[in-house]
Amino acid sequence: MKKAIALIAHDNRKDEMVAWCQANRDALSRYSLWATGTTGDVIARNTGLEVSRVLSGPLGGDLQIGSKIAAGEIDILIFFWDPLTAQPHDPDIKALLRVAALKNVPVATNPATADFIITSPLLDGE
Ligand code: PGA
Repeated sequence: MKKAIALIAHDNRKDEMVAWCQANRDALSRYSLWATGTTGDVIARNTGLEVSRVLSGPLGGDLQIGSKIAAGEIDILIFFWDPLTAQPHDPDIKALLRVAALKNVPVATNPATADFIITSPLLDGE
């Protein structure tokens, strides 16, 4: 089965996420992509990649991605969270990061780490 990658970026980091997705478009096109609402919209609009969307993060989207991780349906989490701005849904962000740690899902919180993950030979293993 195709591996599933979840992509989430807070507002101040959406440009960075789009640039990263554009730079890694070919690699990303081989996976099933999931995203929170607005992140998914901007990625799809700027890259043409097919992205399945859940709700916007502040409206519960982070929890929906977290629930997919709990269910074993997401293999990689690329989550560019904003370290400089308080978020109204901070508890949801914590829950998402917690379940990703619990389920041993690789998490990238910046493009440098995301580069290591997307180029890893482990990505195509079990
Ligand atoms: P968004 O949500 O993609 O709908 O902006 C991201 C977030 O704030 O967690």
